[in-house]
Amino acid sequence: MKITVENGRMHVPDNPTIPYIVGDGIGIDITPVALKVFDAAVEKAYGGKKKVEWMRLIAGHEAIEKTGDPLPPETFEAIKDYVVSIKGPLETPVGGGYRSLNVTLRQKLDLFVCFRPVRYIKGVPSPLKNPELVDVMIFRENTEDVYAGIEWPVNSDGSKAVISFLKEKFGIAVKEDSGIGIKPISITGSRRVGRAAINYALEHGRRSVTVMHKGNIMKYTEGLFQAEIYKLAAEEFKDRVVTEEEINEKYGGKCPEGMLILKNRIADSMFQQILLRPDEYDVIVTPNLNGDYISDAVAAQVGGIGIAPGANINFENKIAVFEATHGTSPKHAGKNEVNPGSIILSGAEMFEYLGWSEVKGIIINALEKTVLEKYVTYDFARLMDGATKVSTSDFGDRIIKNMEVS
Ligand code: NAP
Repeated sequence: MKITVENGRMHVPDNPTIPYIVGDGIGIDITPVALKVFDAAVEKAYGGKKKVEWMRLIAGHEAIEKTGDPLPPETFEAIKDYVVSIKGPLETPVGGGYRSLNVTLRQKLDLFVCFRPVRYIKGVPSPLKNPELVDVMIFRENTEDVYAGIEWPVNSDGSKAVISFLKEKFGIAVKEDSGIGIKPISITGSRRVGRAAINYALEHGRRSVTVMHKGNIMKYTEGLFQAEIYKLAAEEFKDRVVTEEEINEKYGGKCPEGMLILKNRIADSMFQQILLRPDEYDVIVTPNLNGDYISDAVAAQVGGIGIAPGANINFENKIAVFEATHGTSPKHAGKNEVNPGSIILSGAEMFEYLGWSEVKGIIINALEKTVLEKYVTYDFARLMDGATKVSTSDFGDRIIKNMEVS
């Protein structure tokens, strides 16, 4: 049955139909293993009372072979229509071919948040002394900023026109041999990602939301982003959110009981702080490019770059595409050797999004237990002493064997 949305609320039947895309390259290795893990966890949690009906969609290479189109209209419509879906990685041809399917999906479906939860999974090899202190949810704005795709190559009609416009209209001299990119950041775009981050923090009992930006330099774009989220907090959440400045000025440096703290950090200092004092950060909301960098940097801190979960979500109409965050890794494709952790953990987040939190708990505990047993794929095995190196499918089967109701 379809998941439906009414008045901004999602209704999830006991047997929801969830579309999935296997993905290119190692998609064929990780996605079937992940679906098996999901079915086992749902069965474990609800003893047959709930069950996902998986619906296979095609995209990428498989879709080109069958239809000539890397993202057939049926696939796109089903992702929209069935509200929540999950996908393996999709290849982006370099220097030609078709446009990134991931970016196309984000833009056409207006999936305005790239959601990247980063927490430590016990046993995963990490470069930090205390990786368990990292537990952050990153809300990266997904549709604006230099990623909006408004750019012109050097010496093109577009770049020449913009350069002469700047010169004639504002007397601004830009070198003639410049490529040009435009960085739009809007009030509406900033507010909707800010609202999503604050709502998430309140609903999940988190302690703080940090606005990470470079507004000291890019005052009218990133500065606007920060200012609008602060205004939004004062207008829409004033009984539940307090800024760090208010804590110092009005409350003697102590956060009032039950209030969510709003923090404001410049992007470069954030990279230091998240490394040195990770426990001071909780939910982070940031424009597109900063979000791209900080998501991978924090994931690396917990050793999880290959197993980081993620999703692209429109928190207003609820359409969400959960995904493996790594690429198609062509040299490993079809060899049953890569780590399926990223898509499995993305699925865990997907179940929480559906309100099936028990399933998330079962998956995370079982995956953690499997890693602690040092029963891991090659990428972790090469970093761990005394590990047993196993295949993608054996790793999945061991996770299923390790499932317990928490
Ligand atoms: P990549 O596919 O992520 O692979 C880079 C390296 O990361 C691999 O060679 C492997 O390292 C390691 N790795 C990635 N996934 C792994 C896994 N599940 N288990 C173990 N190790 C893993 O990045 P890329 O080579 O830059 O990109 C290839 C294609 O994927 C490109 O077309 C790109 O556009 C696309 N892409 C898609 C998405 C998406 O669909 N969301 C995201 C990123 C990239 P070692 O070989 O050193 O072990």
